[in-house]
Amino acid sequence: MKDWLTHRARTSPGKVGLVAAETGEEWSYAALDEAVDELAGRLVGLGVRAGDHVGTLVGTRPVAVELVHAVMRLGAVLVPLNRRLTVQELGEQVRVSGLTVLVCDGETEDRADEAAGAVPVASVDDPERTAVARLEDWSPKAVSPADWEHDDTLALLFTSGTTGTPKAVTLTMGNVFSSAVASAFRLGVTPGDRWLVALSLYHMGGLAPLYRSTLYGSVVVLRGEFEPGAAADDIGTYDVTGVSLVPTMLTRMLDSRGTLAASLRFVLLGGAPATEELVRRCRDYSVPVHPTYGMTETASQIATALPEEAFEHPGTVGRPLLWTELTVVDDAGDPLPAGESGELVVSGPTVTPGYYGDQAATEAAFGPHGLRTGDVGHVDEAGRVYVSNRLDDRIVTGGENVDPGEVVGALRAHPGVADAAVVGLPDETWGERVAALVVPSDPELTAEDVTAHCRERIAGYKLPRTVGFADELPRTASGTVSREAVREALLSLGEGEEAEA
Ligand code: ATP
Ligand code: MG
Repeated sequence: MKDWLTHRARTSPGKVGLVAAETGEEWSYAALDEAVDELAGRLVGLGVRAGDHVGTLVGTRPVAVELVHAVMRLGAVLVPLNRRLTVQELGEQVRVSGLTVLVCDGETEDRADEAAGAVPVASVDDPERTAVARLEDWSPKAVSPADWEHDDTLALLFTSGTTGTPKAVTLTMGNVFSSAVASAFRLGVTPGDRWLVALSLYHMGGLAPLYRSTLYGSVVVLRGEFEPGAAADDIGTYDVTGVSLVPTMLTRMLDSRGTLAASLRFVLLGGAPATEELVRRCRDYSVPVHPTYGMTETASQIATALPEEAFEHPGTVGRPLLWTELTVVDDAGDPLPAGESGELVVSGPTVTPGYYGDQAATEAAFGPHGLRTGDVGHVDEAGRVYVSNRLDDRIVTGGENVDPGEVVGALRAHPGVADAAVVGLPDETWGERVAALVVPSDPELTAEDVTAHCRERIAGYKLPRTVGFADELPRTASGTVSREAVREALLSLGEGEEAEA
């Protein structure tokens, strides 16, 4: 198989493939193909060959989309890097991923040049000051599209680094292909689909739609800077039918516009747990929300819920995608029955062959049932998946394991609780004690109310010993609750105490 754009441009040359949301500029698949051919030719001029690792450090803009396809056309490996990283972090990723060349833009060229070391750097923009050469300075060479096998490496993608240093995940063409097909079976694909891409292109959530659109023949509507009102308006302006978002983005879009245009057929909502309140809001405003669980290591989705499922079974991320096998295992790695909570392990055609250049990490991540996700959850009798928290977040109190997600579930079941986060705090007697930061919806709510309510639902050792209150939970940039900030807020309180955080 050639790169997917080559095939798509032959099948539907006149169809629109890309729209820039900010300007409304459109590219037909034929025009996109031509631009990609030219860009690929310049990369060849620069010395890029099949199998080379091409780093990209560019903004979310049409040329970034062209780069994705140009690298695939050459049979090279795409390594999209995060523009928010420091020079030092970037330098480390350049080294780890074994880059042959780094492609930057006008905004990133100073840092790219510094981080790249001996790796050559080329900019897609006109350099005003730096020594970085323009990609345009390389005269394009003729390009014949490379042939792809399923096991060839398509991209190296860094994880978000929530639990440590980001890891370089090897994703094969087969991983991304299987994910695209299985996702289409879950969500359906129509020739008229228009997918708004507002997530960063260096995470799978933003990158996947670029690859998928060339398979589906659908349109990518690319939004550069995420601004909630503008992103919400894009849906109406461009008749957008699908969008991938993290929960904070969706919350902000709903806050700014109330609801979203009726052209929407699906909202893939993942990366972090969707609060029940957010899912309820979607139901009330007829937003077709699909709570989703995924990770870089599985080329995006592991499980995706249908809206009806999400509305009827609060907290679920639905069933695993077709071909994905999900097993819940105990601490010894043995499978657990439905309903019991343990580590989620996945296998199937979307699962990475491993971490690039890190045999030890790869071996540690795989067990007899597949890839250990590092996430804790359970599967109900009907096969619906629930993700509660990361294994690392598990609290060990007096030798007993407590999953914060279970305690959060009990807390949220109280009508006076809007949201809650649960962490372990160091404790002289118990090693750790359970502590909760609660966002009340009822201003009268007390720590005693909360504890009494939990006592009826969960075992004594799981009860929060420290309860604090806050107007909102502290969150990271990607929308996950910042456990560190929660811990800090609660650390100032003693056992059994209650205070405003
Ligand atoms: P690192 O692996 O470097 O620590 P990371 O795991 O955050 O970083 P990603 O691959 O971007 O990197 O994120 C995948 C993780 O996001 C999952 O393993 C899971 O912990 C979390 N996640 C994704 N979707 C959900 C969801 N719907 N509910 C709860 N957690 C989710
Ligand atoms: Mg991870």
